[in-house]
Amino acid sequence: MTRSIPKQQLTDTAETVLERRYYLKDAEGKPLENWETLCRRVSNAVAQVDLDQPDYEGLADRFFTMIYYLDFLPNSPCLMNAGTDLGQLSACFVLPVEDSMDGIFTSIRNGALVHKTGGGTGYSFSRLRPKNSAVQSTQGVASGPLSFAAVFDAATETIKQGGKRRGANMGVLRVDHPDILEFIVAKQDQTRYTNFNFSVAITDLFMEAVKNDQEYDLIDPSNGDIIRTLRAREVFDKIVDLAWHNGEPGVLFIDAANRDNTTPQLGKFEATNPCGEQWLLPYESCNLGSINLGQYVKNGKVDWERLGATARLAVRFLDNVIDCNRFPIPEIAEMTQKTRKVGLGIMGLHDMLIQLELPYGSEEGRQAAAEVMAFVRTEAEAASIELATMKGPFPAYDERFNTYPARRNAALTSIQPTGTVSMIADCASGCEPYFSIVMIKNVMDNDRLLMVNKLFERIARAEGFYSAELMEKVAKSGTVIGHAAIPKRWQEIFRTAQDISPEQHIRMQGVLQKNGVDSSISKTINLPSSATQDDVRTAYMLGFELGCKGLTVYRDGSRDHQVLNTVASS
Ligand code: UDP
Repeated sequence: MTRSIPKQQLTDTAETVLERRYYLKDAEGKPLENWETLCRRVSNAVAQVDLDQPDYEGLADRFFTMIYYLDFLPNSPCLMNAGTDLGQLSACFVLPVEDSMDGIFTSIRNGALVHKTGGGTGYSFSRLRPKNSAVQSTQGVASGPLSFAAVFDAATETIKQGGKRRGANMGVLRVDHPDILEFIVAKQDQTRYTNFNFSVAITDLFMEAVKNDQEYDLIDPSNGDIIRTLRAREVFDKIVDLAWHNGEPGVLFIDAANRDNTTPQLGKFEATNPCGEQWLLPYESCNLGSINLGQYVKNGKVDWERLGATARLAVRFLDNVIDCNRFPIPEIAEMTQKTRKVGLGIMGLHDMLIQLELPYGSEEGRQAAAEVMAFVRTEAEAASIELATMKGPFPAYDERFNTYPARRNAALTSIQPTGTVSMIADCASGCEPYFSIVMIKNVMDNDRLLMVNKLFERIARAEGFYSAELMEKVAKSGTVIGHAAIPKRWQEIFRTAQDISPEQHIRMQGVLQKNGVDSSISKTINLPSSATQDDVRTAYMLGFELGCKGLTVYRDGSRDHQVLNTVASS
C-alpha cells in the first residue's frame, strides 16, 4: 500500500521534459509513469543494493523523499534507466585511444556502446602518432589524430544515445603534440566535429614558457622524438584567438588535474568527460548527482543540518549506483569498481545566493559559495569514510600511495552543467548564474507568455514593484540593470550571466575549485561581444593562477548555437 504524501508540483517545462525523455513509455509512446512513480522506480532500484545492510529498512523512502522533493537529482541516465533492463546509470566515461589501428577502432566501438546507453565519452588523442609519420606495417604514413577524430565523430552521429540523448564527446590533445596547430583551428569550420567539444591539454611547462616568452618542444608520443619547437606565446595566442572567435578550443590544465589524482598508482589523467567537470582515468566511469542548493535557505540563512544530511545520503545513493549499474564493457566495469568515483555536485547556487541576498559576483557571494561547497565536501567525505567502515574502502585504496583516510570513493565531488536536471528542479544550472530573469515566450501567433524568474517575481510582488509593463521592459533589455523601478540592491542581486564580469565568473569557479571540488567544474565564462582577444588571454591566465582545471569561454553572439547548451538541451 502506498502512503499518501504531499504532492510535489513541477513546472510545465519540467513535465514536458520528463514526458519527452524520462518517463517509461508503452509501445504506442504513451507514458507509463509520472514523477512520483519514476522516483519510486529509481529509489527502489538503488536501495536494493543494501538489502543485506542493517539500515536497509526505510532507505528507499529516504532516497525517494530526497529526489521527489527535488533536494537532490541524480544524472539523467540514472533517472531514465534505473530499474530498467538497460540499467546503465552513468553520465561520464573516458576511453583510451591507443596508437594502433586496433586501439583506435576498439575505442570507437567502445564509445558506440557507451553512447547507446546514454553516456558521454572523453578521449585523449595525444597518444596517436602525428600526421605523416611512418607506419611500419603498411610502409605508408599516419593520418594523424584529427583524421581519426573525424571517424569518432561520424560514428557518434550515427548512434543517437539510447534514443534519448545525442552523443557527446570530449576530444583532447596535449599542447606539446606535433599536430597541435591543426587541432586548435579544427573547429573553426563550425560544421565539422559537431559531436565533439575540443580542448587543449595545457601543461605547467607550457604556461611557464608563455610567461617567459620561450619556445617549447613538440614531441612525437610514439617515440619521444622532439619534432620541432614553437614559441609558446604564438600557440597560446592562437588558442585565445580561436576561443575568442567561437568558444573553441577550451583549455584543460592537465597538471593541476594530475596533482589531485587520488590514485596515481593506477595511471594519469589524460581527458575529461564531454562537459569537462570530471577527470577520469582510462576506462573509468562516473555517476553524478546534484544537490539543489536553493532548497537549503531558511529564514535568510543556510540550513546546514539539512544540507549535511542530504550530502551524506546523496553519497550513499551515488555509491550504490555503482553496484546496480550495468556497465557497457567489462574494462569499464573493472576500473569503475576499483576506484568507485562519484560526482556529487550542486545546482541552484544562484538561487541560494539570491535568497541569502548576496550578489553572485561579489566577494561575499563567493565566500558563501565556498563555505557551502566546502561543507558539502566535508559531509560527503565523512559519509564515504563511514561507508568504507560498513562495506570496505574502494578496492584500489593503498596506504602506500594514498595518504588520506580510507574511504569508499576515490573522488567525491564535481560540479556538473545539470543541463536537464536543473530544468526538472526549476533552478539555475550547476554553479552558473541565471541567464535571464524575464523571458518572453511566443506561444501562438500573437500570444506571448511572460516567463519571470520565480524568486524575482516573489520579491517584486512583495516589495510592490511588480508590473507587467516592467517585466516586458526587463525582457526586452535582457537585464534588470538600469530600470529605475527596481531597487538598486535587487538589481545587483539579480545580475545575470552577461551582467557579471568575466573576472567575477572566473573567481567564482576558482573559489569553488579550491573549496571542496575534487574533480572539476563545468562553467562558462561569459564575455560581452565587445570583449577583445586580450580579455580572453587575461581570463585564461587568471583561471590558471586560481588553480582551475579547465576553462570554457563564450563571447556573446560568437556562435550560432553553443555546443554545451545544445548538448545539454538536446
Ligand atoms: N552528457 C551527455 N550527453 C548529453 C548531456 C550530457 O553525454 O546530451 C554527459 C556529459 O558527460 C556531461 C554529463 O552528462 O558532462 C553531465 O551533463 P548534465 O549535468 O548537463 O546532465 P543532466 O543529468 O542534467 O542531463
